[in-house]
Amino acid sequence: MPAAPLADRVRQGDVRALARAISLVENDATEGARLVGELFPHTGRAWVLGVTGPPGAGKSTLVDRIAAALRATGATVGILAVDPSSPFSGGAILGDRVRMPSHAGDAGVFIRSMATRGHLGGLARATADAALVLDAAGRDCIIVETVGVGQDEVEIVAMADVCLVTLAPGAGDEVQALKAGMMEIADVFAVNKADREGADRAVADIEAMLGLQGPEPGGWAVPVVKTVAVRGHGIEALLAAVARFRAQAPREISRRRRQRSEFHLRTALAGAFMERVAARVPPAALAALAARIAAREIDPYAAAREVLRQICGEPEAEA
Ligand code: GDP
Repeated sequence: MPAAPLADRVRQGDVRALARAISLVENDATEGARLVGELFPHTGRAWVLGVTGPPGAGKSTLVDRIAAALRATGATVGILAVDPSSPFSGGAILGDRVRMPSHAGDAGVFIRSMATRGHLGGLARATADAALVLDAAGRDCIIVETVGVGQDEVEIVAMADVCLVTLAPGAGDEVQALKAGMMEIADVFAVNKADREGADRAVADIEAMLGLQGPEPGGWAVPVVKTVAVRGHGIEALLAAVARFRAQAPREISRRRRQRSEFHLRTALAGAFMERVAARVPPAALAALAARIAAREIDPYAAAREVLRQICGEPEAEA
């Protein structure tokens, strides 16, 4: 399948082409990389909003409302819902429709679940590539939503231009957030489910913790905004806080974009390396090495060095 026509269709904003392109970067390292290469000169326009928080805090509901509010300003939106625990891979389209009924029929909101595991470079690389695809397709805002449970997911969001952490009152969410390192990455906090008891206390707790943490680089004071996502309350204030951060922290955003690029390079490099391992080292040879490790004949690092020698010793055949 030649990638060039697909790249053209992506750039025209064709939604089916977008879905195909994201599947490609998820599942086909070679074709995916080629497609990203074709699209890359047309990227760099979109801004990225990261949204994270514990499960059940109301992230998807909130993201739905944020997307609607952005749409009302005429902006187009691409949503990447990173869900490493989901058994669906790409095919979670039905789930997405159920999740976001309010955008059904609006081509201005594109939503995609990212749940690929064990692929070359993994979920983080696939998400970074998918963001480039959405950027090239002319999406104004890319929302990357992750469950803030694992370090990887938190890291993906920490590299967004703006990072929104969502919590709900009660259930010790605040403590969990602190543990998961979400406190440090938040540029804006949403205390969602503010219709529930304990919202004001949650706000006060978060503000107290932010106070302990001290000011962010550039003097940014992290705002804590109450929202009721199910009713669409507080969304304007939330987006205003996000806009303020974008206006006040251009240097920090540039720094994160460089960091994002480096992260993308490193994951691409890791992917390329593993691809080469797959091409040069027969699975039986790896299995034999593994057996030797299990038999305590060789340690895992020495075995890795042996593989490395095997690969680097060979002449450069392909790029
Ligand atoms: P996620 O796991 O963080 O993505 O959370 P969801 O968006 O799936 O929301 C979890 C549940 O909380 C759903 O049943 C939502 O309808 C509900 N929910 C979301 N926002 C609010 C809110 O502001 N108030 C109340 N009472 N429930 C909410």
